[in-house]
Amino acid sequence: MSHTLLEVALPDETATERLGARLAACLEPGDVLCLKGDLGAGKTALARGLLRALSGQSSLVVPSPTFTLVQTYELDPCPVWHFDLYRLEDPDEIWELGFEEALGDICLIEWPERAEGLIPEEAATLEIRYDDGARTARLKGPVAWKEKLAHVN
Ligand code: ADP
Ligand code: MG
Repeated sequence: MSHTLLEVALPDETATERLGARLAACLEPGDVLCLKGDLGAGKTALARGLLRALSGQSSLVVPSPTFTLVQTYELDPCPVWHFDLYRLEDPDEIWELGFEEALGDICLIEWPERAEGLIPEEAATLEIRYDDGARTARLKGPVAWKEKLAHVN
C-alpha cells in the first residue's frame, strides 16, 4: 500500500534543493528513494540538494549521472548511490552497476521506470510534476516512511 506522504510546491530550483535537504535528514542505510518526472523536471536538482545536505558541503559537485548511469558518494552514515537509469536498455543491466551492493546503502534512482520489477517494494517515490509552468512534488511510499518523515520538517 502506497501512501501520499508529502506534497510540496517547487516555485524555483532552490525550493527543489531545499526539499532534497529535508529528505536527507530522514534517510538511513537500506533506503531507496525513486525520483520520477519528465526530463528537466528537477530530479537531479533534488538529488543535488540532498547530497549537499548529507555531505555538509554546500558546493559539492553533483553531476547528472546521465552517461555514467551511477555516481557514488562516500558519505556518513553510508555511501549514497545516485542512479540515472534513462539509458538502461534492459532492467537486468542494473546489476552490472552494483545495484545489489547499493541496496544496503542509500539509493537515489532517477528513471526507476527503466528497472521496473527490480525496485524494492519498500522504496519511496518522489514525483515532480510540471504543468501550467508550476512544479509540484509528491512523495509516496509504504507506511514505514510516515514514521521516518515525522522527523522531517
Ligand atoms: P531532471 O534531472 O529531472 O532531468 P534537472 O534537475 O537536471 O532535471 O534540471 C532541471 C532544470 O530545470 C534545471 O535547468 C533548473 O535550473 C530548471 N528549473 C527551473 N525551475 C526549477 C525548479 N522549481 N526545480 C528544479 N529545477 C528547476
Ligand atoms: Mg536528471
